[in-house]
Amino acid sequence: MDHTEEIVIVGAGLAGLAVAVGLHRKGLRSLVLESSDTLRAAGFALTVWTNAWRALDALGVGDSLRRHHLRLQAVVMSSASSASLVTKLPAKEHEVRCVRRNLLVEALAGELPHGTIRYSSKVVAMEDSGESKLLHLADGSTLKAKVVVGCDGINSAVSKWLGLKPPTFSGRHAARGFTVLPDGHGMKPEFMQYNGEGFRAGVLPCDEKSLYWFFTWTSNGEKETIPDHHDALMVKEFVLGKVKASEIPEQVVEIIDKSELSSVASAPLRYRSPLNLLSGNICKGNTCVTGDAFHPMTPDLGQGGCSALEDGVVLARCLADALCGGGNGEEEHRNRNRNRRVEAGLKDYEKARKWRAFRLVVGSYALGFVQESGNWFLRLVRERILAGFLVERLFVAASFDCGKL
Ligand SMILES: Cc1cc2nc3c(=O)[nH]c(=O)nc-3n(C[C@H](O)[C@H](O)[C@H](O)COP(=O)(O)OP(=O)(O)OC[C@H]3O[C@@H](n4cnc5c(N)ncnc54)[C@H](O)[C@@H]3O)c2cc1C
Repeated sequence: MDHTEEIVIVGAGLAGLAVAVGLHRKGLRSLVLESSDTLRAAGFALTVWTNAWRALDALGVGDSLRRHHLRLQAVVMSSASSASLVTKLPAKEHEVRCVRRNLLVEALAGELPHGTIRYSSKVVAMEDSGESKLLHLADGSTLKAKVVVGCDGINSAVSKWLGLKPPTFSGRHAARGFTVLPDGHGMKPEFMQYNGEGFRAGVLPCDEKSLYWFFTWTSNGEKETIPDHHDALMVKEFVLGKVKASEIPEQVVEIIDKSELSSVASAPLRYRSPLNLLSGNICKGNTCVTGDAFHPMTPDLGQGGCSALEDGVVLARCLADALCGGGNGEEEHRNRNRNRRVEAGLKDYEKARKWRAFRLVVGSYALGFVQESGNWFLRLVRERILAGFLVERLFVAASFDCGKL
């Protein structure tokens, strides 16, 4: 184990791949350690907003993804209790598409030199080793790294090492699925969502034949059985029971009904407490976190993955700025100098990202709370006064520009 890797990225999800591609484009080599034995695309699809298209363009994969996904024209909010239209906001200059996760991760991974991703490599512990970090893997091997970027998702081992608290349960859950209709679905290219009492459902077309659906709900304690998140059949039946009992159109119910069980996934919704986000260490020395390892959030703004892509662009830029130019003098001096520059680069990244992450985590939580509330007063305000304002929040969050690499 004499060899020391320069930059090790833990996790090959959206966040890890975005950092790796960004670094590669800036001429920096990295090694990505992924616990699974293949690329993971859990969740099947996700809404990709304007801000993320900017990031994907910076990473060089925007156009190839655009070719496979419809551009959505509007966000439509309806009431699940009355089926009536509450508000419809055209996307106008915003670019919104529902992107298949497998195509997204494959597009990013396809930009990386062969051998950049090492599969079946789960990091189980980390420790200091001089100026470097020693990573312990599940298979008993160890690896030394000069810079560690934790992109290992919501249960991040790296964020734990940084001293960040485990994410907080929001009291809500989400189910999602994917439906392919070989003869075409005939739905308008719109983001359709239905707000009910204690739940929210939505359907978005990815292309002419496939659609993504989601269903989020607030658990009401012992009054209701929460389906086992690992039992896709139980989850699907739970969702169908809920939507059938509402005024959600039959066409939407059918879309959910026709989804393959293998595409149905469900999970409790967790987020990083805003206080922990502001007071905790996003980076320490030569280690930092991005994506869900940094800012897990409820999915109400549809920004968890989009902001992970932004993180990737900003971090790659900050690290490349810090590492460009090696300085003169003795090797030891150069190394010390280099470590200081990496630390400064990671601090720049933290400064650039902390408040953006804070606003998204708080905004998502608040939006979810109002949109899903069963309280009659909040429901009235939501449908009669706040509807346009609420949908507008999606576009406001999507207006961010992370800049070029
Ligand atoms: C219901 C729901 C709907 C959502 N909708 C949207 C949406 O519409 N738009 C949007 O932008 N976002 C959405 N999100 C959020 C989005 O899915 C996440 O924010 C995004 O996937 C985070 O990417 P990541 O790479 O940080 O984490 P992950 O996707 O979790 O990737 C982490 C990777 O690290 C690997 N890993 C984990 N631990 C280790 C380890 N110890 N060692 C090595 N590898 C490890 C994992 O195998 C995985 O490949 C939604 C989330 C939910 C729950």
